[in-house]
Amino acid sequence: FKEELNKLKGEESISKDGVKVEIAANIGTPKDIDKVLENDGEGVGLYRSEFLYMDREKLPTEEEQFEAYKVVAEKLDGRPLVIRTLDVGGDKDLPYLDLPKEMNPFLGYRAIRLCLDRTDIFKIQLRAILRASAYGNVKIMFPMISNIAELREAKAILEEVKSELRAENIEFDEELEVGIMVEIPSVAVQSDIFAKEVDFFSIGTNDLIQYSLAVDRGNQDISYLYSQYHPAVLRLINMTIENGHKEGIWVGMCGEAAGDEKLIPILLGMGLDEFSMSASSMLTARWIIKNISKAEMENKVKEVLNLDSPQDVEKYIEEEITSKI
Ligand code: PEP
Ligand code: MG
Repeated sequence: FKEELNKLKGEESISKDGVKVEIAANIGTPKDIDKVLENDGEGVGLYRSEFLYMDREKLPTEEEQFEAYKVVAEKLDGRPLVIRTLDVGGDKDLPYLDLPKEMNPFLGYRAIRLCLDRTDIFKIQLRAILRASAYGNVKIMFPMISNIAELREAKAILEEVKSELRAENIEFDEELEVGIMVEIPSVAVQSDIFAKEVDFFSIGTNDLIQYSLAVDRGNQDISYLYSQYHPAVLRLINMTIENGHKEGIWVGMCGEAAGDEKLIPILLGMGLDEFSMSASSMLTARWIIKNISKAEMENKVKEVLNLDSPQDVEKYIEEEITSKI
């Protein structure tokens, strides 16, 4: 089977009925890009920039960050690179920032909340990303957005930084796309509104599941409650894709569910445009896409969204889809 997958290198990710999607990778550090290229990734759908900030004594400088983004942008050679701004807090600590100890760190001072408070840190990162955008197809993505004011504030700061760069005659991509992670249920529910103010959505199922089902994503004792097949989660995903498309923006997914072999057909049926996953899963995902038809999957989506439990959804997918590919 591995040989068959290798033969897919260089091919497009296109369904039996001719619908093309993008299969991209999630990365954490610049060196991860080699494996993405080896496995014929069509882009990077999530560059988790927080790893540049972790396991060190102080904040990375603008120059260090610029280098780390630029090298990836160049290696991708025109293919899209979505850089997510700092997503710390929750389970990811930065000792040198002296973050508060919280009762509920996943619901606390983290990610975009921290960045909008510490604009000194945020602006340096935005400068580095913008500068790197002169060397490839870079897009910016804000994590953990929960309300429209945060998005507007983040975009306003980005505009400020752009003005500063213009004044300094420093080059960046004026057309750079700006998107958000849809990983908090409030944003999925209001995705019709958010879609008017961004260029793309990327659905973060790891957190979307955690927040919509009230299940800590890292707690083994309750992991039986954590499921990407929960019909409520699938409805949120479907709503987000539909609302994005109504406004003409593309919708991707960078949570683990995007690489789930059983869920890929359903996501194709919902109209997902971009699937971002670990590099080792990409060719299998391409193989699945090439062996199913979108029109057929659209009908399966209708069935699945009306099922009442994660167990029924998984069983339905196994019996009606996976076993027939
Ligand atoms: C997610 O929440 O689905 C996601 C991709 O981000 P992270 O796993 O880094 O929180
Ligand atoms: Mg997340």
